[in-house]
Amino acid sequence: MINGAFIPVDEAKIHITDLSILRGFAIFDYFRVRRGKAVFMEDHLERFFRSARLIGLNIPYEQSEVQGMIEGLIKKNGLEKFSIRLQLTGGYSDNGFEPATPNLFLLSLPFPNLPEKFFKEGWHVMTYKYQRELPEVKTTNYLTGIQILPLLEENDADAVLYHDGTHIRESDRSNFFIVNQEGVLVTPKDKILLGVSRKITLKVAQGVLKTEERDITLEELRSAKEMFLTSSTKPILPVTILDGKEVGNGKPGPVTTQLMELFQRYLEDYLGKA
Ligand SMILES: *Cc1c(COP(=O)(O)O)cnc(C)c1O
Repeated sequence: MINGAFIPVDEAKIHITDLSILRGFAIFDYFRVRRGKAVFMEDHLERFFRSARLIGLNIPYEQSEVQGMIEGLIKKNGLEKFSIRLQLTGGYSDNGFEPATPNLFLLSLPFPNLPEKFFKEGWHVMTYKYQRELPEVKTTNYLTGIQILPLLEENDADAVLYHDGTHIRESDRSNFFIVNQEGVLVTPKDKILLGVSRKITLKVAQGVLKTEERDITLEELRSAKEMFLTSSTKPILPVTILDGKEVGNGKPGPVTTQLMELFQRYLEDYLGKA
């Protein structure tokens, strides 16, 4: 769907003068559709509108209208299971720099089926010094993340873990948690993209273990008992190797495993609601 009109994906086009193409000026959001229902749609819509506001783009629709588009797209597709990328671009700029009327599109994508192996064995992550620009905005800028893919490959890593020389932030497209030596669940809260999966993980962890939202030093990271990533495609994925060294005993830890189950239960409840 582009600016409110349904278009087959093969014919969907945005003109080359769009600021997203010329200057990388665009924001987006991404969520899954399960049993014909957009997963945590309210949270994603709220963040999408916030991203637009923070970058100075005006979404030419009310939040309820965009929600109607999402529901219309799900109905039109007639699919129980897929995913949606919601994107707002800088529009067709006269001088190639100043934003014009934004273009809004909803792109249907396949459901992200990550191999079961990832969840059983966990991912290998590699630390890398980098701070995302406009961290609280879900911009389409993943320049560094994409540029270092060969480096990850060389180091046999599945994902990157960004830090600023002292503190850990997040991965390229996921948030990050540790279970520290004291058994506290800790996740950064500043200079990161505030993920919906992060928020729900903190919610389901309430009453299970102590949680803290604060900076994590590289030192605390190295001594953590467990660690995992969260994002809408995963939603919780254990990390078992950090910079080539095993985390704990090199297997997904008990807290991570329990949180994965609790998240799943929370999702089932959400999908079960009318
Ligand atoms: C999308 C994204 C996340 C995860 O957010 P979710 O809402 O959980 O999918 C985390 N960090 C970055 C940089 C992201 O782009």
